[in-house]
Amino acid sequence: MKVLEVAGVSAAPGTKVRGSTQYVELADGSPVSLPLLLINGASDGPRMYLGAAIHGDEVDGVAILFRALAEVDPATLAGSIVCVPVQHPLALYADHRIPVSQYMKSPLDQAPLDAWTVFPGNDKGNLAQLLAAKLFGMITECDYAIDIHTPTRGGRYVPIAILPHPDLGEPRKRAREMADAFGSGWIMDTDTSFYVSDGILCAEATRAGVPAFTFEIGEGGRLEDAVVDEGARCVLNALRWLKMIPGPMRPPEKTYVMREFLEIRAEKGGLLLNRAELGDVVTKGQVLAQVFNIYGDEVQTVTAPADGVFVRTTTLSTVSTGERVATLGLL
Ligand SMILES: [Zn+2]
Repeated sequence: MKVLEVAGVSAAPGTKVRGSTQYVELADGSPVSLPLLLINGASDGPRMYLGAAIHGDEVDGVAILFRALAEVDPATLAGSIVCVPVQHPLALYADHRIPVSQYMKSPLDQAPLDAWTVFPGNDKGNLAQLLAAKLFGMITECDYAIDIHTPTRGGRYVPIAILPHPDLGEPRKRAREMADAFGSGWIMDTDTSFYVSDGILCAEATRAGVPAFTFEIGEGGRLEDAVVDEGARCVLNALRWLKMIPGPMRPPEKTYVMREFLEIRAEKGGLLLNRAELGDVVTKGQVLAQVFNIYGDEVQTVTAPADGVFVRTTTLSTVSTGERVATLGLL
């Protein structure tokens, strides 16, 4: 094995190194740096990119990575791991999906705003584009990539691997195989939805020849031990599948492979009461939630428009017209 060099940080074979790499400077001259954890194995193998918190309130992903990678011994690792546990530090400081202070200062200059959607980025662009370009430079030096998310605050997902668009050839097929091995129990293999759009991190990584998917789990703004354990199990499965680390795969009891998301939105404003459990297999017409106005009248009974799996729920207790109340995965 050779020395692993990533964005100015290096790790000798058989070592685990923490470092950082600057990508922008704030008005007072303070540098903003991406934290890095490099694990360089003692023997040859693939290079895996692992990233979390490109949205700043998605803290479960950060913990999933530190819990999983605590299990990785560089002495027995085949290949290497490039981990960026916080892919958007400014958003993490804001404890928000986006870097709110930057956005408040200048909404126009901050558009496009969401770094996750502007890959491969632009090193002459705005903050989101600069960040995407910096991350993309590291991702494309790797052989595989997994980008960990939670929904933003007020939403909760089953643990679900969401693949990029199926048109992306051989690397996309390999991404599906990795999602199967990852074993979260829910896979979205679709050609529609925002998640398969051009510009999304995993779509552009896969297009560039690095098989990748988005992993959603848990809830924004909450750190939950069971969620972290579950995510760490899956990350370790991917590393075992690639024969990077020893040990048996730990597959889920059952896997749902879904072909489409079906979003259900509030037609009325009010208080939201969920009536189905996240992960339930539901049938057309089944009651998922109720919306009550502030006087207690039921103003909307949210029912399943089709048979499916209840993959994303709303945990906020109020909704306005047009807000998401539930998402089904269609089998
Ligand atoms: Zn996210």
